[in-house]
Amino acid sequence: MADSASTLTDVLALQDELVEEAALALPHQFSECSYPLGQIRQAIYLCLTCSEPRGICSSCSIACHTEHEQVELFPKRNFRCDCPTSALAHPCTLHKQLEDVNSSNIYGQNFKGLFCRCGRSYDPNTERETMIQCLACEDWFHESCCNLRERPSSREPTPVGGPEQAAGAADELDDSRSNASSSCLPSPLINGSEYESFVCAGCVATIPILQRYAGTHGVIMVIREADNQEWKRIENSPAEGTIIVDDGRKPDFASAGMKRTRTLSNVDTPAAKRPRGSSPSLVTTSAECIAPPPNPLAQAFFYPQESDRSVLSSGDIFLTEGFRDRWCRCAKCLSSLEPFPFLLREEETYEPPEDPDSGLSLEELGLRALERLPRDRAIEGIHAYNGMKDDLKQFLRPFAQDGKIVNESDIRAFFDKLRDSGKGAAP
Ligand SMILES: [Zn+2]
Ligand SMILES: [Zn+2]
Ligand SMILES: [Zn+2]
Ligand SMILES: [Zn+2]
Ligand SMILES: [Zn+2]
Ligand SMILES: [Zn+2]
Repeated sequence: MADSASTLTDVLALQDELVEEAALALPHQFSECSYPLGQIRQAIYLCLTCSEPRGICSSCSIACHTEHEQVELFPKRNFRCDCPTSALAHPCTLHKQLEDVNSSNIYGQNFKGLFCRCGRSYDPNTERETMIQCLACEDWFHESCCNLRERPSSREPTPVGGPEQAAGAADELDDSRSNASSSCLPSPLINGSEYESFVCAGCVATIPILQRYAGTHGVIMVIREADNQEWKRIENSPAEGTIIVDDGRKPDFASAGMKRTRTLSNVDTPAAKRPRGSSPSLVTTSAECIAPPPNPLAQAFFYPQESDRSVLSSGDIFLTEGFRDRWCRCAKCLSSLEPFPFLLREEETYEPPEDPDSGLSLEELGLRALERLPRDRAIEGIHAYNGMKDDLKQFLRPFAQDGKIVNESDIRAFFDKLRDSGKGAAP
């Protein structure tokens, strides 16, 4: 934390910042495997050291596979932790009963460490592009593979001293690292902040209602009409047949003539704003279809035989904020949406219980040090860490009382002592 030396007062001054950072990184207790919860949507990790193509929950990622090389796959729906099952040779330290192999988990290419339609592997240290997760299949895609940018010329890290190296060396969170790495690239055709969800072409191909809506307001596509043209985004303006949701209940046609000068009212009018995920209109079905007119370019791509235009596209779509509230909910549209519940309702993603101690400023420091302790004695999961944290506070108290300088070697001495005592960090 401190570059060279600092008084505890300095350390305390940094506390708020560290608390926030640590709380963001580790706000949860990682003492229980999620296995007993069954098939749920949760963050899943692939352990590369345990070579089985299986997925483990975030607690197991920290407690059971601590020193193993892992790739975070982020949320996967309908997934049960594989750590306690016989599919993984490495024993689970949290859920000690050996369980049968999970039969309902689905293992896509991500579980072989491969991503995107290009099937490349992912290395957070060299990947220069932001990757986008598909709402439907939950695979990850390169922006360049979605025609949002040219493929960066090199996937090697920038030379020493470049922003990417600096970010990597500072051991930043993955998010800030990827921001740092893509920030030296020109911005993509559609910025991450401009859409809420992404559905990959492979999934759009199996969801007819998305083909119908592609290119209408809030359902952006990227196309070009000839090989030598630039990629461009297409999206009808909200005025073109947009549904105005009145008070969140009564869907109504916005006549093109009348509303052309206005932007979409349920986005801009505070009164009509609703918290994410709550959709009063879910219970309302309208008798007549009020879906916006199809976008002819998008239709020419999805149904080329019906059009004399040639349209090139990856076939991906980008759904802007509030898309779930904008679908027409006539009987026909609703029945086309219902097989894909993630299009209608924001899904719940399980997270381990909140850690009541996550506000402690020493957390990050302790965890980093913990990574250097030998696996066998140091880690009985996060339990050990909690015990060690108390010892560390105890150790630091005299520094605080005397206004003495704490430097890195003091901290290291603490951990050396811990290691030598053979006590590890038993709770
Ligand atoms: Zn687990
Ligand atoms: Zn492992
Ligand atoms: Zn485990
Ligand atoms: Zn790709
Ligand atoms: Zn997909
Ligand atoms: Zn409809």
